[in-house]
Amino acid sequence: MKHFDAAIIGAGFGGLGAALTLAEGGANVVVFETLVYPGGCASTFSRQGYRFESGATLFSGFGQGQLFRRWIDDHDLDVQFQPIDPVVTLRSQEFELPISRHREQFIDQFCALPQAPADDLRTFFSWQKKVADALWELFDDETLLPPLNPTTLSRHLLRSPRYLPLLPTLGRSLGQVLRRRQLWDYRPLRTYVDAVCQITVQTSADEAEAPFALAAMDYFFRGTGHIRHGIGEFARAVTDAIEALAGTVSFADPVFAARPHPKGWHLETRRHQITCDNLVANVLPTDLMILLGDTDFDRRHLLELSNDIKSGWGAAMLYLGLDARQLEDPKASHLELIDRADQKLIEGNHLFCSISGADETWRAPEGQRVATISTHVDMNKMWQDDQEKRAAYIDAIHDRMRQTLARRAPTIHEAICFEMTASPRTFQRFTKRHRGFVGGVPRRVGLHNYRHLRPVSPAPNLYLVGDTVFPGQSILAAALGGVKVAQMLL
Ligand SMILES: Cc1cc2nc3c(=O)[nH]c(=O)nc-3n(C[C@H](O)[C@H](O)[C@H](O)COP(=O)(O)OP(=O)(O)OC[C@H]3O[C@@H](n4cnc5c(N)ncnc54)[C@H](O)[C@@H]3O)c2cc1C
Repeated sequence: MKHFDAAIIGAGFGGLGAALTLAEGGANVVVFETLVYPGGCASTFSRQGYRFESGATLFSGFGQGQLFRRWIDDHDLDVQFQPIDPVVTLRSQEFELPISRHREQFIDQFCALPQAPADDLRTFFSWQKKVADALWELFDDETLLPPLNPTTLSRHLLRSPRYLPLLPTLGRSLGQVLRRRQLWDYRPLRTYVDAVCQITVQTSADEAEAPFALAAMDYFFRGTGHIRHGIGEFARAVTDAIEALAGTVSFADPVFAARPHPKGWHLETRRHQITCDNLVANVLPTDLMILLGDTDFDRRHLLELSNDIKSGWGAAMLYLGLDARQLEDPKASHLELIDRADQKLIEGNHLFCSISGADETWRAPEGQRVATISTHVDMNKMWQDDQEKRAAYIDAIHDRMRQTLARRAPTIHEAICFEMTASPRTFQRFTKRHRGFVGGVPRRVGLHNYRHLRPVSPAPNLYLVGDTVFPGQSILAAALGGVKVAQMLL
């Protein structure tokens, strides 16, 4: 039986971050992935002549000094990051806002909206930047994470003046902060923050924990953009780098069981039996418990984490082929479309729509381009007992998605020549995520968010990575969590 220094279950960005870092450190590492391609929720898949992004479509972390820029430079990754501008265009019934990748330009555009309280907005955005700077540095400089070991703690103490702007926000929601600043009644700002919060911290501005929501408002300005030929190209390039460092990535090879072994851990996969010193699981806590079977370990932490995820979301998707002749803009573009800003930004009322560039020719049959469109799904309604009601719920969401698209982006709607749908069931089937929960744990207001400030190790030599554990949601955070775990093992 082959023995490895480390085995990774899953080639999502959590697993890839761990595997690449371990391979860089000289470890003998193997990754097992159930799909035939890497990236999980941030992958590109082929179907009927199209190459669709399966879930995520927009990356952050490519700015100078940021994690993904370093990976590209250090490994000469064969990937084309396009720093598009605007990064995203937000459209609601009231206004259209191109969100420039240049913060100052974005603020100017925002302040030019009708009836904008320009001076108050500028004061707010300049304070918000201080909060964002303090928190984004944690993502840009991994040596500050996790915050609780003696070295990082002393560095945080030295940096404490930078955290001062955060103090008035602790324990508050972003909605409360904006009310105190008398900006909550300015509808375009409320719509904008609701939309940003829903796609980043996964909840509305009124529920979102203020410090992280204020930092998430900077998402568009922090090395964020489009990957030419689809987001999965980046995952593929990272996989190539792992293999170039003598790591092994085994596709179509799901792990069925993990058991403690005198040498560390024993894994049974579809095609292999191996042992390893350390095991890194890029799966949901519930799924890890299933893989561990009757193994004797303290389950409390994993049960607590599994419970937190139940407050999260699923995704409903439209994967579209579009007639290229009907699209005016040849560039890749990303749109946030809101049908009714006075309703919750879920269930088809709010769409994230990403369209491939005209130059990404091999993503669609000739004369076509592709779009991936997503919206949030309430998992209590999704998994209700009555199967007919479940189906009707998802059908209604897909209908609402088409309506919102027709209202807010009629040109795209009229260009549709192919459609495929997906639901949480699809994510469950393909990414093996329990019940199809995606996007991590919503960061709702409350100090409970600070319970988990370090990587999770439920048993000796076993670590959990991914968007449901420290440091949280997004591709960048999942990758960073993987990097941190790997650094602990090296
Ligand atoms: C619709 C949607 C849109 C999103 N948009 C964005 C966005 O624009 N920007 C952004 O930053 N984030 C976005 N996200 C979130 C982001 O995609 C995820 O947070 C991130 O990709 C999660 O990475 P992960 O490593 O935690 O998990 P995953 O991506 O789920 O990876 C886990 C991997 O493990 C594999 N696996 C599972 N079980 C097994 C097993 N037993 N054996 C072997 N392999 C296994 C899976 O196939 C998968 O490849 C979006 C998510 C969704 C669903």
